[in-house]
Amino acid sequence: MAGIYLHIPFCRKACHYCDFHFSTNRQNESEVVHAMVREIELRRNYLPGEAIETIYIGGGTPSLLKPSHLEFLLNTIDKNFIVSSSCEITLEANPDDLSEDSLLTFRDLGINRLSIGIQTFNEDLLRYLNRSHSGSQAVDTFRLARSHGFNNINLDLIFGIPGQTLQMVDDDLQQVLSLNPEHISAYALTIEERTVFGNWFKKGKLQPVAEELGAALFQMVSDKLTAAGYRHYEISNYARPGFLSRHNSNYWKQVPYLGIGPGAHSFDGISRQANISNNHLYVKNVNQGVIPATVEKLSRENRINEYIMTSLRTDTGLDTKFLQKNYDFHFSPAQQQLIRNWQSLGLLTVDDSRLILTRQGKLLADRLAADLFLDTRE
Ligand code: SF4
Repeated sequence: MAGIYLHIPFCRKACHYCDFHFSTNRQNESEVVHAMVREIELRRNYLPGEAIETIYIGGGTPSLLKPSHLEFLLNTIDKNFIVSSSCEITLEANPDDLSEDSLLTFRDLGINRLSIGIQTFNEDLLRYLNRSHSGSQAVDTFRLARSHGFNNINLDLIFGIPGQTLQMVDDDLQQVLSLNPEHISAYALTIEERTVFGNWFKKGKLQPVAEELGAALFQMVSDKLTAAGYRHYEISNYARPGFLSRHNSNYWKQVPYLGIGPGAHSFDGISRQANISNNHLYVKNVNQGVIPATVEKLSRENRINEYIMTSLRTDTGLDTKFLQKNYDFHFSPAQQQLIRNWQSLGLLTVDDSRLILTRQGKLLADRLAADLFLDTRE
């Protein structure tokens, strides 16, 4: 079991909060796609013997690609890997790119899951984020996708935007629930350094939402979506039964994946690779038969820490048996004491072999995980 991630590094506009790798200059789109095709061929042995269970086309904005380019990429994967007949194939899309024609093409290409970047329906906030679509466009697009047979749709939301109130987030939730998607990703906005928001923050022009409001928003999102029947299966992810994102769930279970394209990451179970985040240099290297990637061999401790970090964010929690089986690892007496303290503070429950964060604990997930981390210094 394995996955493939395709990173499409182009966007129409630069959203003010985004630090993913992308370019708004789309002149060399064809060269990049051809280099990605070449990279797929060069790395056909990266996941030896593994059936591909999930393909995730992210970015950037994959829905900007010409259908013929998408087809070229998916056909090349088919020719070079064993793709399972039940493969989950997700395409990230922005509302302003989807049309009747594009949806029909995506369906014909085997794309069976859409992830639509809505973020908010509030027009003022959409402008503040520098999104390229309106709230009403998002609603229309969702309905169009539904009427064209897409029955597995994720909607992305962001909360904690400066100036956003509890009422505004509630309005977004009502709107999303009225559409009834199978999956909702709701992310708390983080201000990243190398973004417009990061720059405004440095200059004192932007004030992140207060910690208490951020916590109240998180709880409200969780309460309303779970009350509506969604499973809060990961800190930022909610799904109807049977519609968990298989691709992302596999990341959290340390399933190997191959990342193709500039800025994409790969994991083969032992090391991580990060492709260069530069479209021009990526094309130049791949055309010479070289994968421009840095490789980080992960120590046993690194892999245990990654598992602690990701598993604590899920509703099935950290499985101590997984750590014993895969790493022959047992928590030290000091770590066990820490876990008992969190239990008595109501931050965590212990269910058989699993440590599961409570509603309160989820607010501190990253901090608690960091407290359990093993020392990775040589
Ligand atoms: S959030 Fe999405 S659409 Fe906006 S710049 Fe980032 S990758 Fe592009």
